Amino acid sequence: AALAEARGTEYAVIEVDELHLAAVAEAVDPAVVVLLNLTRDQLDRATEVGAIASAVGKALARHSSTVVVANADDPMVVSAAALASRPIWVAAGASWLGDASSCPRCGQTLTFTEPGWHCACGLGRPTPDWWIEDSKACTADAVLPLDIRLPGQVNRSNAAMALVAACAVGIPADQAASALREVEVVAGRYAVVHRGGQDLRMLLAKNPAGWAGMLSMLSDPRPLLVIINAREADGRDTSWLWDVPFEQFGSRQVVASGERAADLGVRLSYAGLEHRTVADPLAALKALPPGQIDVVANYTAFHQFRRRLGREREVAG
Ligand SMILES: [Zn+2]
Repeated sequence: AALAEARGTEYAVIEVDELHLAAVAEAVDPAVVVLLNLTRDQLDRATEVGAIASAVGKALARHSSTVVVANADDPMVVSAAALASRPIWVAAGASWLGDASSCPRCGQTLTFTEPGWHCACGLGRPTPDWWIEDSKACTADAVLPLDIRLPGQVNRSNAAMALVAACAVGIPADQAASALREVEVVAGRYAVVHRGGQDLRMLLAKNPAGWAGMLSMLSDPRPLLVIINAREADGRDTSWLWDVPFEQFGSRQVVASGERAADLGVRLSYAGLEHRTVADPLAALKALPPGQIDVVANYTAFHQFRRRLGREREVAG
């Protein structure tokens, strides 16, 4: 629908579920495909990660003119992009390697030697064409600022990948680099919502990799509201909660909430995190103090909570 609305536009940027990449690529023959990471997500409806990497690789191999901007630090991504005709490798880092202990090509154990990784079969981290140093994206003949307003290393990595993709379609590098600064909120994510005496920083994490990438953003021990649903779009299976490193969240006030608050509460108990369980997120806020609060929700929980906050404001306005 978004594409039909803007037929005259020069570029379309499409976020594609990894399960649908082959079909979408077949339909649009993309100039560039960007592969950030491939990790377990909604295992009840998706297949396991190695099979997805293989399917993505076969899809990319059918598009010989497509530039593939790929994360050299994610072995699953590398195995998929290895079949691409025109790869550009970016050392974008990987906050979650739980699905990459064995080689996606041959099954042997991968050896990780900072910053590289390799397998006896020959698959290994390609020499990066681009890499990140502090807040800069570097290539052999250019250094560009990654001057972004979004928090965390994961957003720096995403920004670097976006920058490389923009350069690949011919957008001047300095123009692309300065555009990064304009992104402050992504569909409600990272926004701060003022409600009563509380400032709610809205974060979305829907799988273990997303949570791992968010750890650096949650280093301040602010009170934390976690909202988990398990609807179709979230994946019905909540077992992924057991792969989230909640043990690393340290001491802070935590409330488990959402339609699957009880599942989350059990997980937090095993992580040794003191918490309260209040299924209704708005009621859960009452269990937390005034001031800054981090809210982390998965997909439908995030949008449901935003809508409820929005309706509250309409009523108040
Ligand atoms: Zn191997």
